[in-house]
Amino acid sequence: MVVPGMGKYGQLRLINSSVLIIGAGGLGCPAAQYIAGAGIGTIGIMDGDVVEPSNLHRQVAHATSRIGMPKVDSLITHLRFLNPLPTYMAYPFHLTPQNGADIMSRYDLILDCTDNPATRYLISDFCVLLQKPLVSAASVQKSGQLIVLNCPPSPQGVFDRPCAPCYRCCFRKPPPPSADLSCGEAGIMGPVVGMMGVAQAGEAIKILASGLHLPPERRSSDGGSETDTERNLTQPTLLIYSYDLASAVGPYTFRALKMGGRRRNCFACGEGSTLTLEGIRAGEPDYAQFCGALMPPPTAALTPEERITAAAYDEARRKGELPPHVLLDIREREHFSFGGIDGAVNVPFGKLLMNAAKIKRDGGEAEEVLPPEARGNGRDTPIFVSWG
Ligand SMILES: [Zn+2]
Repeated sequence: MVVPGMGKYGQLRLINSSVLIIGAGGLGCPAAQYIAGAGIGTIGIMDGDVVEPSNLHRQVAHATSRIGMPKVDSLITHLRFLNPLPTYMAYPFHLTPQNGADIMSRYDLILDCTDNPATRYLISDFCVLLQKPLVSAASVQKSGQLIVLNCPPSPQGVFDRPCAPCYRCCFRKPPPPSADLSCGEAGIMGPVVGMMGVAQAGEAIKILASGLHLPPERRSSDGGSETDTERNLTQPTLLIYSYDLASAVGPYTFRALKMGGRRRNCFACGEGSTLTLEGIRAGEPDYAQFCGALMPPPTAALTPEERITAAAYDEARRKGELPPHVLLDIREREHFSFGGIDGAVNVPFGKLLMNAAKIKRDGGEAEEVLPPEARGNGRDTPIFVSWG
């Protein structure tokens, strides 16, 4: 309370406010600890998963002794040790187009701590329609990002004053399905996602303590100026954290990109938007399809005769029934380092794609897609490809 700008009024606003944390994982765990520690009055936690051993390096509110427990119950157990005073609400299931509006409407501010694009768009659309500020973060491998959206909230389609953008204003299209890897598939560094979760809590506390989640007429002020913060939020900053020195981000650990304001042609918050709560509940728009989760599988490139199971390959090889061939393992280098089949040559699929793109651009022979060590003795050498 003695921090300048917070004061008694700020702390009272926190006690009287409520936060819904969607996702009790790598972002949700650190965020929830600081939200609970700050004395926010009501804290809702939503997640349909149970605690697994592979979660624990980053989902620091869970515990080895609580493996198998619903994450929501595990996190609330942890938070009660920290601060027993807030009201904790448990939602041990995933957010859906059907259950979202009812639950989210009970909260002042939403934290998106999920890890899949379809849910991000769903949460943002609900926030637009319910007029809730949204603190959104994401993290994978060695980088993370954070942005405050829809704050201060304003009704759908309003453009007579500067208004804050929604998630769709900033990210019109979802990432391609191939880039949408889960943390289990792509890997993730604990401190990176932790840093993003802590920053989410920081932004949420700032918004709630200054009353920016409320309409202007309901912000009882203790004399501080809020107009600058409000103006800045209508053109929010995308914070990017990365400690991957080899990436295009370069040597900068933190970067901040100024984003635009609300877009007139935004599907959710723009002029003439047809998005409604009733529509979402009835399945319009189709979030899974928008994000490509239900894209038809690619055309089968190989005939059944050209396929072989790992067990059949192993047996044929041990019996000496296979001709001289190249065994190509196309998993990423880190996966291959855990173990592979004897004699396999590791060329990650991404490298094959890059070689193919280079040949398409600069010309060259098709077999140059494979690096020399993976070509065998000429173009007649059979190639067995392993990716599992
Ligand atoms: Zn928008």
